[in-house]
Formats: sequence, structure tokens, C-alpha cells
Amino acid sequence: MKNVCWHHENVESVIDKLQTTLDGLSSLEAGKRQSLYKNRLDAEKVNGPWKIFFRQFTDTMVLVLLGAALISSIIGDIVDAITILAIVIVNAFLGFIQEYRAERSLNEIKKLASPTARVIRDGKMQIIPADELVPGDMVLMEAGDRVPADIRLIETFALEVDEAALTGESMPVEKKTGILKEETPLAERSNMVFLGTMVTRGRGKGIVVNTGMDTQVGRIAAMLKEADSPMTPLQTRLDQLGKVLIVICLIVCALVSLLGIYRGEPVLVMLMAGISLAVAAIPEGLPAIVTVVLALGVQRMAKRNAIVRKLPAVETLGCTTVICSDKTGTLTENKMKVDKIATYLEAWSCEENWSQLKTEKDKNKALRILINIAFYCNNSRVEKTKGDFKVEGDPTEAALMVMAQKIGIDGSGLRLREIPFDSARKKMSVVINQDGKFLVLVKGALDVLIDTCDKILYQNKEIKLTAKEKKWFYAEQEEWAGNALRVLGFAYKEISEEEVFKLSDDELETGLTLVGICGLIDPPRPYVQQSVRQCLRAGIVPVMITGDHPLTARAIAYQVGISKTGRVVTGQQIDKLGDKELYKAAIHDRVFARVTPEHKHRIVNVLKNNKEVVAMTGDGVNDAPAVKAADIGISMGITGTDVTREASDMILADDDFSTIVNAVYEGRAIYDNIRKFIRYLLGCNIGEILVMFLASLLAMPLPLLPIQILWINLVTDGLPAMALGLEPPEPDIMRRKPRPKDENIFARGLGWIILSRGLYIAVISLLAFMIGLLFIRIQGVDSLEVPRTMAFTTLVFAQLFYVFECRSERYSPFELGFFKNKFLLGAVLCSVIMQLMVIYLPVMQTAFHTVPLELWQWCIILLLAGAKFIGKYILFIFKRFLV
Ligand code: ATP
Repeated sequence: MKNVCWHHENVESVIDKLQTTLDGLSSLEAGKRQSLYKNRLDAEKVNGPWKIFFRQFTDTMVLVLLGAALISSIIGDIVDAITILAIVIVNAFLGFIQEYRAERSLNEIKKLASPTARVIRDGKMQIIPADELVPGDMVLMEAGDRVPADIRLIETFALEVDEAALTGESMPVEKKTGILKEETPLAERSNMVFLGTMVTRGRGKGIVVNTGMDTQVGRIAAMLKEADSPMTPLQTRLDQLGKVLIVICLIVCALVSLLGIYRGEPVLVMLMAGISLAVAAIPEGLPAIVTVVLALGVQRMAKRNAIVRKLPAVETLGCTTVICSDKTGTLTENKMKVDKIATYLEAWSCEENWSQLKTEKDKNKALRILINIAFYCNNSRVEKTKGDFKVEGDPTEAALMVMAQKIGIDGSGLRLREIPFDSARKKMSVVINQDGKFLVLVKGALDVLIDTCDKILYQNKEIKLTAKEKKWFYAEQEEWAGNALRVLGFAYKEISEEEVFKLSDDELETGLTLVGICGLIDPPRPYVQQSVRQCLRAGIVPVMITGDHPLTARAIAYQVGISKTGRVVTGQQIDKLGDKELYKAAIHDRVFARVTPEHKHRIVNVLKNNKEVVAMTGDGVNDAPAVKAADIGISMGITGTDVTREASDMILADDDFSTIVNAVYEGRAIYDNIRKFIRYLLGCNIGEILVMFLASLLAMPLPLLPIQILWINLVTDGLPAMALGLEPPEPDIMRRKPRPKDENIFARGLGWIILSRGLYIAVISLLAFMIGLLFIRIQGVDSLEVPRTMAFTTLVFAQLFYVFECRSERYSPFELGFFKNKFLLGAVLCSVIMQLMVIYLPVMQTAFHTVPLELWQWCIILLLAGAKFIGKYILFIFKRFLV
């Protein structure tokens, strides 16, 4: 089917060639076709487990180690060579597990964020993953959708599509259904829409003609999905840091080796010592652990309904200082209900008056037309189910549709034309043919609509709309909006048949007759108030930006606790404010109403220029620029459009404001954990390198053998570092101010802590070594095995005690709850067992040149290694029970 000129075929022939129907395919047929067609672009590669495993052996550090094994076998130390090889394999295996897990969870999350399509199958509308589409499927599209395949259109309503991704044309193009000449170039095929382009306006229906690699996008390799940045800023910085550390380490290691050779130690042994020290000191595990911690964090966020599309967002979330949020659906439940209806001088509360409204409709023409508008000027679908209504589509429209059904409607009209709703226009119109009359029906924000009306329907007659009637409606709106209702106005006019397609959009929407208003209720979401409080405590400013009426905005802002000054700044006022004043308004007043998407964009930019880190939500097509401009662009999983979703860094699966706050919480926790294991790993590495360096400065024999350094670095400190990355968030995490975005990872004294702790570990290990030396001198023994085993074990245990200290920069491990991080306890236990095996298992003793330790030696080791830890514990007991 690839070579058919679909734009040149008429609808019947398309249906015939694809063996489909106007009601789409059956699920059975679609299933069969799925085995033949894939709606996926082949370029999206996934790394398989073998690839990840072999990647572990391409690391420079591993190559250095393999070199070390070679040197050992040359010196004739076969046991050392085998041990090094074993360590390399264990290390590669650990690396593999970490990376495989990370990769898998990221892939799962990618799936969550993948696009969907609305199709008609078995005669019913269904939402399916876009990659399950097959040729012949009947697809529905509307403003905000990403076109899910190449589609021949059969029905359009003011459909416009942005094809910039395909043709480079920056203006959206209008789409129709008529047959085109065979030679029509791609950019002018107005009866087709293509995979990857975006619907910017209107609605359309069409038949899928090509999928996956057969589509126009599939054919152009260069069009493949823009790659998301593979590394976060922190990962990049750590990568750079790693390179600097490598140079420093190599210099120090060369110095240690040269000093040893100068003192007369064997050259090859000192070379080995230098290499193992370099391996030990270079924090090669850092990037891998950062990736794992980020991936696990992203998975945790997904469980809490925040789907991260771009990894760097995880880091930025923790720095967020302002959260700009929509009102409808994010702060409120988006379960709208019509609560009040009014025609001039008459108002009804709906809940208790449905039956009265039914009879009232027969007497009151304005009410009748209002219901008519609510029904026809509407794209939602409502199904009556056992006394209740199942709704689909825009909640505002669904509420109006339910109202129309409850009061009763004559559905004989035929819709001829539609001017779609968009949040900049704040209104929507249709033209219908009903009982031979051609009617323009309009609904929209009252304050926008009223300016296009010059008459009003009162006592079944059209009268001139004067200031007096306007005043009455405005007073009603004020009262309703003050009670958090959304107020919509309804108007109409009759036109002649010729005018239906002749009049421009503007001409259709002027000279209208106002019939009445509706008030819709949409209560705040249950946990929003709590989340707003949490934001404020965490130094984050919540800002509401809504297209709704200022009074409705204010009422909701008060209910959820966002409003500080009670002032609401409207879109019109924003236009008059300078950047400085706008910034002040955002931070102090926090509520914007009747804004357009352009205002949102400006607010983001002004906040960013004032060094704020901005998270901004958006749902409509026009919100995409603001979402893209924000530090964290957030889109909606339920009500959002594909356009904003693709521009965003994070998707809220439940559209809930509280989910943003939860994501910030997780973002802060992840960054904290990254700092924790950096503190641990670097502290340990510095300890290892210093113990060797100080010994050579003091002209002492090597306190640790190369093989022992490798063991410590690759085996005993790896697992605890990993487990630190899983540390539960600290209790005050949402009571701290956000950290500055460009903060160095070593800020707030971390660099100093790492250095001093490294020095401490080195000094006590050296001390243990000296005690061992003294002991063998007294005993008259010639071998260095006892002092080395003592230094070796002291170093390992000092690191294992140190890991508990790294759990927090503010709290002692006892305040945090000693048993809270089970992974850490397990990892430490593993490391202790492995170290005991090295000391007590005869095979390991030969490999690692160790001897069993006596009780007094253990006492010295534990005292030295655990001094700080024991001190802290005593202090904790003292504080707890005596103070
Ligand atoms: P948010 O708080 O998410 O910005 P909103 O729904 O309050 O969303 P918009 O969707 O931009 O804001 O709507 C702005 C105004 O347009 C509403 O206050 C309402 O008066 C009017 N409006 C909303 N939906 C429709 C619709 N489907 N048809 C006509 N008018 C609408």
C-alpha cells in the first residue's frame, strides 16, 4: 500500500483499498493486522542485557586492572592475577545489575509517557496506545493531538495542523477533505495529515493509510525523534570531576610508586601498588550509582503519578522556587456540575429545581435557547447509565451536556460549522440548521461574550441590551463567581442559508442576542490545601494562573490557601505591568486570572529572569511555549494535549497539583541521596589514597597490598554506597529552602567533610598498622601480615562505620532511626561477612595475604574504627535520657 497516492483517491476508494468501513475496523481484524504492521519507528533502540554486560569491560578502569593482572602473572604471582580477575568479574557483575535495573525502569517509564490515539473500533470510540494503530483504522483528532499515523481525512471541522516537523512550514495549514491531483507536493496535501505533526485547531476524522516506517516521517531518517538529553547536569559535572580526579590521582599514585622505588622496594611491586591505588582512588562507581539513583527515583515518582520525560528534570525539581499552576483540573477536581442558571431577572439553583426547570423551559424561550446552545455548542459525549451520566470530553462541556439532558432537549438540529474554543478566545460557536432555520449558537466567558451582543431575550422578546441589563448579569456573575462558580454566557443569532459559509468567524460572532448564563461548580481537590501549605513551608511560592474569571479564581485561591493579599491580577492588568511589577505580583499576589497563553509565557520568563526556578503547568495547545520555557514544564496526563505533553519535562498522570509537590519532595530526596553517597565514596577513596601516601612520606613499608586495596574499593564499599542511594527522605526535607540551581555538589561544607573524614580514616588505619608493627617487633616476627591485616580491617570497618554517618548531614543515625534503611544494614552486613571471609577462610588468606586476628587486635580495630560512631551513640543516649 506504500505506493498508493492516497490524496488522489476518493473516500470510497480508500475504504475499499484498505478493506475498512466508515465505522472503522473490528477489534478482530485490527488484531490480525497488528501482526503485519507496527506503528513504531525502528530507530528507537533498546540496550539488551548482553550489551550492558559487555559494556562493563570497556571501562578504562577495568582495562587498567586487566593490565595489573598481567603484571602480576609476569612477576609470577598467579594467585594475585586470578584474584584480580575474580574481582574484575564481580565488579562487572555489580555494575551490570545496577545499569540493567536503571535501564529497565527508565524504559518502563518511557512507555507510560508514550502517546495514545482515539480510534473507532467495533463501532465505538476507544483510546489505544498509538503504536497499536493499523492501516484501515478510523482515527479521531482534535486540537492538541499529535497525529498518530499518516491519515487520509474524511471529515474536518476548522482543522489546522502544524506540519513544521515535516515540511518546515512554520504556520499551521488548513485541512480539508477534497480529492487532490496526483502530483500535489507533500506540503500541499491538504486532505492528509502525517505522523508526528500537531493538530493546532479544530477537529478531524480520517482513515489510517500508513503506519510506522511506511509513513512520511518513517521514510526520512533525519526526522527521528529528538533525542532527550542523555545526561543530567549533575551527571555531566560528575563526569568532569571524575576526569580532574583521575589526573590528581595519577600524580599522587606516581609519587607513591616513585618514593617506594627510591627507598628500594621492588619496582614491579611498587608499579602494582601505584596501579591499584589509582584504581582505588578514582571514583569510577560514581556515574553508575548516580544513574541508578536517578532511575530508581524516577520509578518512585511514576508510582506517585509524576512521569518524568526528561531525566534532568529530577534534579531541577529539587531547586524549584515557584510552582505556577492552572486552576481547573489541577487545583480543582475538574468534575464540573451546573449549579445555577439565569435568564434576565430570573435565576434557578439547579439541584433542587430540575423538574421545575423542565416546565419552565416550555414557557421561557431564553431558557429553551440556552439549553439548545448548551447541547449543540458542545463536543462532549454523555451516556446515561442507571440514573447517572458517563461523560467524556471537556468537563465544562460535559456538565452543560448533562444539564441539557436533564432538562430535556430536542436533538433534531444539524451542525454545519464550528469555530472551536480556545483559551485565548474564551468562547466557542457553531452554526446549526434546525427546523429550516440557520442559527449561530455561541457560549463563552460572560465578560467576553457580552461585548458581542446588542440584544437580549426577555419575556420571549428580543430587546436592546443596555447598561441596565448588563449590570444585572454582572451582579449575578459577581455573586456566583464569589462562591467559586465558573460563569458562562450563552448567545445566538439567526442567519440566512447563504451566510452559513460566507460570513467570517468574526462576522458570525457579532450582533448576537444574549439569552442567559450558567454557573458551574468545581470544588478544590482534597489534598491541595495541604500541598499548598507544604510548598510555603518548603520556601516554594505557589502561583495560580487561570483563564477563569478573577472572582472565581480568588474564591478558589482562598479555599486552597494560595492567595496572600486577596488581590487578583487579570490578563489586561498584566499587559500594563512592567517586568518588575509583574514579578512582584507573581510572588506577592500569586493569583492571575483571565490570562491568555501568551501571559503565561511572559510570567515564566519574568520569573526566570529574576533567578526563580519555575515549574509551570499547561494543558491546551497554546500552553506549549510557556511549558517549554519553564525550568520544569508540566503537562497533564488526563486532560492535556499531546502538544504540551511533548513540550513538557514531566507529566502528571492524575493532573493533580499535589503530585507536583510530591515530585519536588522526591527530587529533593534524590539530590540529598546523591550527595550522601558522594560523601561516602570520595571520603573512602581519599582515606585509601592517603594511607598509602602518608606511609611512603613516613618511609614506612606498604600498609596495604595492592590486592587488598582493590578488594576494599571494588567489593566492600560498593554495596553500602548503593544502599545510601536508597536512603529514605529526611524528616525536614520539605521544611528547608530550595537549594540554588547552580549550587556545587560540594557546597555547604561537603568538600571539607570529605577531606577531613578521608584523613581521619587514613590516620587510624596507619595507627593500626603501627600497633601491628610494634607487636611483631616485640614478638620478633619478620612477616608484615599481621600489621597489614590490622590496617586492612581497620580501613574496611572505618568505612563501614562512616557509611552510617553519611546517612544525613543534619541528623545522627540514631535520630534517623538506626533500622530505617534496611538495604544499608544488609549491605554493611554483607561487607562485614566478606571481610571476615578474607581473614578467616584459608583460600582467601592466601589470595589476600591475611592472617586470623586475635581478640585484642579486634578490640583495637573496632575502637579505632568506631570511635566516632560510639561517641555519637553515647551523646545520643545522654541527650535522650539525661537531658
Ligand atoms: P485553567 O484554570 O486551567 O487555565 P480554565 O478552564 O479556567 O483553565 P480556560 O480553559 O482558558 O481556563 O477557559 C477560560 C474561560 O473560557 C473560562 O473561564 C470559561 O469562561 C470559558 N470556557 C471554558 N471552556 C469553554 C468551552 N468549552 N466553551 C466556551 N467557553 C469556555
